[in-house]
Amino acid sequence: QPKMYVKNEKLYGAEALVRWYKDGEMISPGKFIPLFEKNKFIMKLDLYIFEQVCKDMSLWKEKYNFVPTISINVSKEHFANENFIDEYAKIVDKHKIERGKIDIEITESATTEEKVDTLKLLNSIKEKGFLVSIDDFGTGYSSLSMLQNMPIDIIKIDKIFVDKADLNSDNNIINYIMFIAKHLGVKTIVEGVETKEQVEFIKKIKSDIIQGYYYSKPISKEEFEIYFNEHK
Ligand code: C2E
Ligand code: CA
Ligand code: CA
Repeated sequence: QPKMYVKNEKLYGAEALVRWYKDGEMISPGKFIPLFEKNKFIMKLDLYIFEQVCKDMSLWKEKYNFVPTISINVSKEHFANENFIDEYAKIVDKHKIERGKIDIEITESATTEEKVDTLKLLNSIKEKGFLVSIDDFGTGYSSLSMLQNMPIDIIKIDKIFVDKADLNSDNNIINYIMFIAKHLGVKTIVEGVETKEQVEFIKKIKSDIIQGYYYSKPISKEEFEIYFNEHK
């Protein structure tokens, strides 16, 4: 699914979203990801998706001399292994992709896992040269003091905050999240943006990036290839 810069509506990059087709029908990730998290199959799936993404990026690099920034979802199950990020680094290097073109999305709720030293983990991802985004921000329970110390590049503000916002007011939770993000010097993405009115609102509050059906639903990689050539 494409992500667009708010300032000029050009392409920032995209998020890789897994799709499972069975007997010609799509099973939503909302159905199988929780199951795969439980039985740990998610570790294999995430790495598989990541390898596919790197292959595509390296193809695009050759074909267009252009590589969009691609975000991938990394499930918290990986955090049980302290060196999990080495595996990711190996894959990017194999495909000769710049690590800074890969954005690792970690949900806010994963950052408050009790058994994990989140700061150490995020630092090790940053040290390897990847970008780090906090996904579904506002739905978990990370504290402000934690946020202040977290080495992150982007906060992804969850869809509910746009849906709930009074678009004519500057007294919404999303306005305050923006304020904090600016103060911390991190970029913001607003997710799940569907209407023109929401886009106008997001321009007003000066988020950096928008993702949502208003610009594009998740599309196949072939469609995305056309999309990014039209919007880069
Ligand atoms: P997510 O990471 O929060 O991804 C965004 C979800 O919001 C996607 O659902 C996307 O299709 C949907 N979305 C984007 N824009 C809009 C909009 O304007 N309106 C509405 N109503 N929805 C919008 P999707 O593809 O069904 O994915 C659901 C979740 O499954 C993802 O939520 C993510 O947590 C998980 N997931 C997807 N792919 C992977 C993967 O490869 N690995 C892991 N670990 N999780 C994944
Ligand atoms: Ca995500
Ligand atoms: Ca999200």
